[in-house]
Amino acid sequence: MHRSDVGEADRLLTVLSRERGKLRLNAKGARKVGSRKSGHVELFVRSRMLIAKSRGEIDIVSQVEMLDAYRGLREDLTRSAYAHYAVELIDAFAEEGSEQAELFDLLAEVLKWIETTNNLPLTARFFEMKLLTLAGFQPQVFSCSAKGEALQEIAPDEFYGWSPASGGALCPAHAQDRSDSSRLSLNALKVLRHALRADYANFTALTLRDAVLSEIEQVMLRYIQYVLERKVRSVEFLNLLRREAGNV
Ligand SMILES: [Zn+2]
Repeated sequence: MHRSDVGEADRLLTVLSRERGKLRLNAKGARKVGSRKSGHVELFVRSRMLIAKSRGEIDIVSQVEMLDAYRGLREDLTRSAYAHYAVELIDAFAEEGSEQAELFDLLAEVLKWIETTNNLPLTARFFEMKLLTLAGFQPQVFSCSAKGEALQEIAPDEFYGWSPASGGALCPAHAQDRSDSSRLSLNALKVLRHALRADYANFTALTLRDAVLSEIEQVMLRYIQYVLERKVRSVEFLNLLRREAGNV
């Protein structure tokens, strides 16, 4: 039996299991424990699954018992869009065939956070830092990613640099040496550091100006897309939703 998570379709599922990492499973004909209804396995659920070895390439879900339905994610379009984003990132970093206990726990945690938080943007930033740290890609925010010297406090009209290829933040001098470096404000740097030091409750209790929120979102996305070497697809829908709601 595998406690498992997150389907992508009602038949062919991509599941994150604690013990065996990412699995592709066929859920056709799966029998729900405690229910006569057969078949349907939804997106964003945590389930206990009984998996039957198949002669083909894809093993079969023979029984499924839902442990957490994260109902609040399905009833709210914005929360659902954030959940898609989190799952897309987890999927991108998860490996097949090896234990992924920490990633599994993070996924279970972030879905609960997204279901219940009143600060979705900071929840997403906190999750991104946790995920990058777990995956071995924690960005450098305490020292200059060019030469490793400690980052000194800068004047309010100065900027650090941000270079995903270099590994994170840059001191103002080294930022000038790199053409791929974008500006990073002192406030944004402080928030990124806080995301690494604080716990979830403390971090998401921060009140930030929209400009800083938007800045940290952009630097983190640029960093993640550099690490993944591709665009994060679910971001477009998230941005569309927020534009329509009038709060970017
Ligand atoms: Zn430097």
